Amino acid sequence: MDQIATTSSATTATSSSGTPSDKTNKSLTCQELQLLSEMDSRQFGVLKLKESEHSEKKKLVLRAIDHLERLIVEAQDCEQDDDCKTLLIDPKTFCKLGHFHLLLENYSKAHSAYQKFYNLKTDEYWKDPCFLYGSGLVLFHFNALTWSRRVFLELLYLHPSFQCTAQVHIRLGIISKLSGDFHGLVHFRIALQTSSLDISDKNRVLFHIAHLHEVTGKTNAAIHGGSGGSSSSPATTTTATTTTSSTSNNTQQTTNNSEDSSKTLASIKADAYRQIGWLYHSKECLGERTGRESTAIQYLQKSIEAEPTSGQTLYLLGRCYASINKVHDAFLAYRNSVDKSEGNADTWCSIGVLYQQQSQPLDALQAYICAVQLDKYHVAAWTNLGILYESAGQIKDALACYVNAGRGAKQTHDSWLNPNLLTRIRFISNHMAHAPPQQNSTKGRQLPVIEEAWNLPITAEMTARQHNQQRQQQQVKDARLGSIGIHDENYYRVKEESSEDRVVGHKSSITASNRATHLNSSNSNNAKATLMTPSDLESLLKLGKPEIQREYEKSMEISSHLSEKQPIIELSMKMSGHELFEQCKRNVSELNGIGNTSIVGDDLGPPRPPSPPTTRLTKEQLCPPTPSVYLEHKKDAFSPQLQEFCLEHPIAVVRGMASALKLDLGLFSTKTLVEANPEHAVEVRTQLLQPSDENWDLNGKSVWSCVSHRSHTTIAKYAAYQATSFQDSVKEEEEKVSGGHNTNSDSDSKDGFNIRSSNGSKRSKRGPKQIRFGTNVDLSDDKKWRLQLQELTKLPAWARVISAGNMLTHVGHVILGMNTVQLYMKVPGSRTPGHQENNNFCSININIGPGDCEWFAVPDAYWGCVQSLCEKNNIKYLHGSWWPNLQDLYDAGCPAYRFVQRPGDLVWVNSGCVHWVQAIGWCNNIAWNVGPLTARQYQLAIDRYEWNKLEMFKSIVPMVHLTWNLARNVLVSDPKLFELIRSVLMRTLVQSIRMLEFVKCKNVEVRFHGRTKNDPSHYCGQCEVEVFNILFIREQEKRHVVHCVDCARKQSSNLNGFVCLEEYKLQELISVYDNFKLYQPSTTPIQQQLQQSSTPASAPSSAALQAQTQNNNVNNVQAPTFNTNVTAS
Ligand SMILES: [Zn+2]
Repeated sequence: MDQIATTSSATTATSSSGTPSDKTNKSLTCQELQLLSEMDSRQFGVLKLKESEHSEKKKLVLRAIDHLERLIVEAQDCEQDDDCKTLLIDPKTFCKLGHFHLLLENYSKAHSAYQKFYNLKTDEYWKDPCFLYGSGLVLFHFNALTWSRRVFLELLYLHPSFQCTAQVHIRLGIISKLSGDFHGLVHFRIALQTSSLDISDKNRVLFHIAHLHEVTGKTNAAIHGGSGGSSSSPATTTTATTTTSSTSNNTQQTTNNSEDSSKTLASIKADAYRQIGWLYHSKECLGERTGRESTAIQYLQKSIEAEPTSGQTLYLLGRCYASINKVHDAFLAYRNSVDKSEGNADTWCSIGVLYQQQSQPLDALQAYICAVQLDKYHVAAWTNLGILYESAGQIKDALACYVNAGRGAKQTHDSWLNPNLLTRIRFISNHMAHAPPQQNSTKGRQLPVIEEAWNLPITAEMTARQHNQQRQQQQVKDARLGSIGIHDENYYRVKEESSEDRVVGHKSSITASNRATHLNSSNSNNAKATLMTPSDLESLLKLGKPEIQREYEKSMEISSHLSEKQPIIELSMKMSGHELFEQCKRNVSELNGIGNTSIVGDDLGPPRPPSPPTTRLTKEQLCPPTPSVYLEHKKDAFSPQLQEFCLEHPIAVVRGMASALKLDLGLFSTKTLVEANPEHAVEVRTQLLQPSDENWDLNGKSVWSCVSHRSHTTIAKYAAYQATSFQDSVKEEEEKVSGGHNTNSDSDSKDGFNIRSSNGSKRSKRGPKQIRFGTNVDLSDDKKWRLQLQELTKLPAWARVISAGNMLTHVGHVILGMNTVQLYMKVPGSRTPGHQENNNFCSININIGPGDCEWFAVPDAYWGCVQSLCEKNNIKYLHGSWWPNLQDLYDAGCPAYRFVQRPGDLVWVNSGCVHWVQAIGWCNNIAWNVGPLTARQYQLAIDRYEWNKLEMFKSIVPMVHLTWNLARNVLVSDPKLFELIRSVLMRTLVQSIRMLEFVKCKNVEVRFHGRTKNDPSHYCGQCEVEVFNILFIREQEKRHVVHCVDCARKQSSNLNGFVCLEEYKLQELISVYDNFKLYQPSTTPIQQQLQQSSTPASAPSSAALQAQTQNNNVNNVQAPTFNTNVTAS
């Protein structure tokens, strides 16, 4: 992916055999080509070509662009010439050009080049993470935020171990923030957790978090009715800084402060000032430099006033002074920082830089040594030390330092690693291979060799002090680790080394020079190649990366940029579990693809909404009649045709269901509910009263966004509200009839306007009226709601909350509102905004009455259409809250059903149907989800599972866990459903095997954890993806948090600090997988017999025997009855 030259013809690049006539085409040397081949979007923001120190590199990039552009022109000329067929431009050329322009900050050119690449590689552009990253950055620059978000999400989904994911998360967070969406917090949090994030980016993130709180705080205030945005600021700062202290390493500080509130307040203030100050220092957009720096310094000084003990603030102050050349002040600040006993490697490294700039190499050397003694893997300090040695002509020492920097980057998985470094290491090794050995005498040397430097007196004094500190930190760390019982081998090793101070100096530099010698010998063969021959060029391009870097990658096992998933070509569903196991073990070296891989398939690219059907619908077809049936008798309700009817349509209304079954709906009336459990919790949504086919914002503009404010109350209190609302309305009607018109004198009258008679143009003078919708009342508790739940078992099996033919019954634990009942208490105008059900499951909704509800629905085939309309309206389809405008839908060729649900009517919402509902009258509804055992339902559920993953939206149904339970519990006779389930089993089994291998090679112990009955499924505490079988646990804010493998690796590539738990023995999974076979009824007469005898004329097909026996442990809601069932065929 890093090829720079890119033609199929080899005659292009060099002068040695190439086209000497072209004088401007100065050939690129081997070194230069390597340098160029390493450059791509990942260096954006790191390698700043505009800065004078990189002027040489900038020239090189410009030359390369020139070169590539000429190739393109030649190829285009060639295309017109029929005789010439050799010169073809590889699409990657455009991608590379995009990278170069991006690094030069020529955004429009970069965009155009990337666009070209995208158009040429529409089918597989997504395989190249650097392309996705680069083009996301460019789109972000141009404020094409919806597109930028899409590209970044695809990048995270497809290449979770890409090295710049923290930068991606930061930008995604900013995009969310700009649309006032609080969900952006997730991105900022993940970015903060990423080990490779540097200090200035961390501060940037903290600032954004604070700002996000402010932005969303204001939004909330606006919803409340505008109680002033500025008052939210103190709260804002508090929340943000709480995050600060908990996520940064200043844990000691936090614990001390928590005891003393005034101290805490001061610390919060200090944090806030520090952030703002640092922001002024680092954000170019905040104005001209000297002005920014002096503002930054003022803020930092305020911060120090508030909290004089903060070494970090003093350090940042030093950085500010240094950047405006106030050397003395900078030294003072650094010195103070160290004295506050918080001096860290960063501080010492900066002191070194300052000395180096002042041409005091010896002092610089000592400071760097301090830094690396504190932090063995401090890349910047090792690199700077290397540069220092190199400038003093001490090449051997320089090389040792560079190599250590490389080791540091490897250890910390540091994306900061300067691409120059590797080239430099290689260059020096080559150079040394041909140069006479460095003289051992001290004559002519400016600086002590590294072994000596380690033992210099001042340094020793410093290190003694530092070690004291480290020991304290270690004690804290030990205490924390102790509680969870981790033995962190690596950590101890590091500590031992550093407490042996002097000896270590030798040790580490000896290792360094050993390595240098090694590099030296291995690379000496290449030393002669200074100019490239065409074949050299080709081989170099094939190589893509210098060998040395490949070596690093190999030792890192998972290379950060080769994150393309490993396709499971050699694995097939026909293989037994054991064969899969053997096959995977054989590929241990290929540990790519151990991340949160797709359960749907490989190489499918990012999941996308479907394109809507292409047939243009007529006006009538855009408003189709709603499929409905009217039931008169109980037997109608149980007829297989009814179920088939429902499964055939996107949505269906079954009229008279309650009376046909003689359901006692009174059990769900407000009166009964109050009598049963008056104190039961009700979630309340405060909404604006609007006509059902309109949606207005507070400014009287027609919009899709449909905001509501959330609060909580009890059934009794909501019942009182419901009753008052009704009485007020009656009173109003009476006044209308008697001619007494609604006067404005009654200031607390609640009847702003009558919903049925109003329209958008005729709005209340007092502004929109607010109503309250009582939603998501949890009826899962069968002790509290026994009678109600029992009544619902009268329903036919396919509509029941619990049944063997309902996939959600096999989840094995409660998913509130999905496999349990929820109740909705409404007044006219209460609205449930547009949505699809979680993971595309079906839903059952019964109106209890006394009033009606109005429904709107779009067939699932058109959900992509609704989704894109949401994006056009700047709303996130999954995370946002929206009320579709019907005309917008029709204009986009998207049909919509519209119908009224009367009391006793059951609405069936099929898989994936988009719907939104508004109450016409005063009424209650009950609803839950069901999952028919069909291939279509299963397919739509796993498709949504992947789309959710891409959108970072939690899949409430743990599909992997569910799939394994289905394999254990259900006999599947439908070949299509069988294949889908089997394929997910295979993928997740393989993933478990690979993950165990990965954990093993990181020397992390896997502990068997098991599962107890009714245990909920696990989700990643960072990204909310389902975590199946292998759990990565780390303590965070005193809680043990489950992580997915991707998030764990982001925090520590070697899984340091993680405990790994296993829920199932591999052998068990293998046997479940092996025993899951296509069920063929004819071959098992006994079961067939059972099926035939088991149905009272209801189910179109078989009950699964196994499901019956296993289902008793499903959950504690109701004892399931299994005499009827749904098909799995
Ligand atoms: Zn995660």
